Amino acid sequence: MSKIVTRFPPSPTGHLHIGGARTALFNWLFARHHGGKFILRIEDTDRLRSKQEYVDGIIEGMKWLGLDWDEGPFFQSQRMEIYQKHIEQLLAEGKAYYCYCTPEELEQKRKAAMAQGKKPRYDGTCRHKNLPPKEGAVVRFKSTLVGETALNDLIHGPIVFNNAELDDWIIQRSDGTPTYNFVVVVDDATMGITHVIRGDDHINNTPKQLQLYEALGYEPPQFAHVPMILGPDKTKLSKRHGAASILEYRDMGFLPQAMVNFLVRLGWSYGNQEIFSLEELIGKFDIKRIGKSAAVFNMEKLLWLNAHYIQETSNEKLAELLVPFLEKLYPQAPTDYVVKVAATLKTRAKTLKEMAEMADFYFREDITYDSKAAAKFLVPEVKSGLEEITQAIISMAELDEAELERTFREIQTKHQLNTRKFAQAIRVALTGRTVSPGLFEVMAVLGKNRVVKRLRKAVESIG
Ligand code: GLU
Repeated sequence: MSKIVTRFPPSPTGHLHIGGARTALFNWLFARHHGGKFILRIEDTDRLRSKQEYVDGIIEGMKWLGLDWDEGPFFQSQRMEIYQKHIEQLLAEGKAYYCYCTPEELEQKRKAAMAQGKKPRYDGTCRHKNLPPKEGAVVRFKSTLVGETALNDLIHGPIVFNNAELDDWIIQRSDGTPTYNFVVVVDDATMGITHVIRGDDHINNTPKQLQLYEALGYEPPQFAHVPMILGPDKTKLSKRHGAASILEYRDMGFLPQAMVNFLVRLGWSYGNQEIFSLEELIGKFDIKRIGKSAAVFNMEKLLWLNAHYIQETSNEKLAELLVPFLEKLYPQAPTDYVVKVAATLKTRAKTLKEMAEMADFYFREDITYDSKAAAKFLVPEVKSGLEEITQAIISMAELDEAELERTFREIQTKHQLNTRKFAQAIRVALTGRTVSPGLFEVMAVLGKNRVVKRLRKAVESIG
């Protein structure tokens, strides 16, 4: 086989969403697996709906996921001459023609067809008229309307389309702009695309595109139509099901590795394996392992994968990723000890955002107690124990976990305190709540000054 070339051709009429990102990933993996080429092409022929902010967002999302492209981004809006040349070729060869039918006439015919219970289809009024170009005319492709067009889809297998279902569709609108089914073929052919991996909502466009390849004298690529993604309620995944844009997931504190791992499993599988490194995916990716049935989006699984990748990340890297989330919540926070903070929270948080929220007691100088926790644990019974441990800590040069634990045990025994009650009192004093990372770990990270200050405040609160 010649060198594999794939592409991702989003229309910048919306954000890069889960489905688009999955399509991009499959194309990227397939190209990388075969040492081929991956092209990014922005399909911006719809001038009214295309927006620069979406182009920027798509590129940002691709970069965040780590899906680098070898060529592009190409913009269809800058390739109009190439499309024009192809339209002229078809016109010259009698494979396309000018049509003067007005939208009103077409609408009437459409209504008449519907009234007779027929599928509305262009009736070929201008097909044999050999009309010259005219302001406001459209160009139609002379489809083959008899026989069949066959597609051998790499996922769905052979699909046969009855050509009688087709009509002479428009390749150039009255304003001179070419249409999607036309430009996609010209681009894929002239860019040497060997494999088109895309959503199966495009299956019905494929017979039109295949006929056009033939008319233009181009070899068609291989097609792999990927089943759609459903929400947990088994309807097509959409905004109703939560965040739609990939960048929203970044902003919710998901790691790109988790996202990639999650996306690939929406349709592709390798036995029961759930966790894949990127290298492993590149090594194992194969279109044959993409399933024929729709995939279901499962948020629990994404959170589980994210928790896994958070734990796999080094403390230094995690701290770097955490800082933007901390800055949003605690603008005054000292960032010098984020590495240590991250180390204590990495097995607890499922997202970076959650981790930043859990870290509040590290970054707020004045913590507030959970009222139930304070009422239950900051009680007279533990007061003298708290006073004594405060003194002991003041005399320590620096806080060491093992030494803290020994001191805690001694004082607890001396004051005949229940371990849990004493520990929870200290925990509430330091964090404001009853659940936190290990007590001695938290103390060592907070450091002597904060610990002493908070223990004193707790003693005072007992009165
Ligand atoms: N711009 C089209 C889309 O976003 C591309 C379809 C294709 O892959 O051919 O759906």
